[in-house]
Amino acid sequence: MTEPVLKCTNCGSEHERRSLICPECGNPGITSLYKYLSFNQHSLSLIINKEVWFPKAIDVNDPFEFKFMLSSMELHGMAINEASLQDARKDAMQLGVFCLSEINDNILMWSHYASNHTGFCIEFERTKENDLKPESCVPVIYPADDSVPVIDNENLETNSTFAKIATTKSKLWSYEKEWRIISREIGGRTYPLPGGITSVIFGCRMDEHNRNTIRKIIKTDIKYYEAIEDDNQYKFKIKSLSST
Ligand SMILES: [Zn+2]
Repeated sequence: MTEPVLKCTNCGSEHERRSLICPECGNPGITSLYKYLSFNQHSLSLIINKEVWFPKAIDVNDPFEFKFMLSSMELHGMAINEASLQDARKDAMQLGVFCLSEINDNILMWSHYASNHTGFCIEFERTKENDLKPESCVPVIYPADDSVPVIDNENLETNSTFAKIATTKSKLWSYEKEWRIISREIGGRTYPLPGGITSVIFGCRMDEHNRNTIRKIIKTDIKYYEAIEDDNQYKFKIKSLSST
């Protein structure tokens, strides 16, 4: 179970998926992440107040969040109590999780997270200064064999162990190409936008009135797109809209 990699489109070498540039040739890596949203008071608050909601891990849609196993149920010669381990997991699941995606054209995510295509999707820019930098926001690991992380007891309390537990999910979810920020404090609250908004993609069923509302609120000069049906295949094309 290793860090997801990205193949550089320029030199072909593989590097950590979270790297902003290819360490071999400096070619840009993944420079944007996307958030699918319904059109409602919460998403309007996001763009008006420039803050995002971090739900608690225990409240998101996957009951297997933060699940792990230990390499043995013994530490320093003492038996580890199963109940205390479950308590530790429960405590960790009080932390906030903000989920994003690498892709803006996934039909299922438009269905699930953007009110059956009547919502929209925001593009956030990744920079080395903002909260989408490699140290703060990481790609989710989807193990090929669907096994939960096995943690070496000696490393139980390290940051990297925690990161692995908090960012590993079933491969059933792999189509989401998810990235996440884990808050250091209890979730169920808002945080400032993790990065600048560079574009908005309107859902294929989003009505004109709601599209205009978003444009009026954002005001600044960003790009607008819409998801439209491809003629030949079951996929979306992301079409640029004129900058009016
Ligand atoms: Zn390269």
